[in-house]
Amino acid sequence: RMEERLLAARFRYINQQLYTSTSREAAQLFQSDPEAFEIYHRGFAQQVGRWPENPVHRIVRYLRRRPASLVVADFGCGDCKIASSIKNKVHSFDVVPLSPLVTVCDMAKVPLADESVDVAVFCLALMGTNLQEILEEANRVLKQGGTLMVAEVASRFEDTRAFVNAMAQLGFKSVSK
Ligand code: SAH
Repeated sequence: RMEERLLAARFRYINQQLYTSTSREAAQLFQSDPEAFEIYHRGFAQQVGRWPENPVHRIVRYLRRRPASLVVADFGCGDCKIASSIKNKVHSFDVVPLSPLVTVCDMAKVPLADESVDVAVFCLALMGTNLQEILEEANRVLKQGGTLMVAEVASRFEDTRAFVNAMAQLGFKSVSK
């Protein structure tokens, strides 16, 4: 029980670090300290496992209802639940490969051509203080009229309306919240 608590505390600490540093620093943190990455992922799975619903499942359900021809980019893919659950072509990006399906990179700079994907996903992965740069990267790779999906814990937003307005300035129209 003590060990579990300690693990949870270290997870919260690393999680906080991820939300308060740039995506580049996060990438460096995990690449230089694989133990931190492992602890983070165990803690993440434990925490999400206690929620009534894991948002990634909802995203998978949504994608299954849409054509399998749509190309998807999963930013901060973790263990690639999306890529392993749908037939679509899915580009999965993370800083450390938890699965062979992962392309290792910083989400602010992904190896995809402009306007090459139909759906970009940030599922509990919109971290990093350089949010604007990250979202501009998603915008760059999305086709005109493509879909951006963001799943985030509500308490992470100081003001959701301000976030939606800022997204509009980056070229995204809110279709559903
Ligand atoms: N989307 C997955 C995992 C979310 S956990 C799911 O919902 O199950 C957040 C993920 O973002 C972690 O796997 C973490 O390694 C990744 N991440 C954090 N900073 C990143 C960065 N700068 N570039 C790419 N991935 C990053």
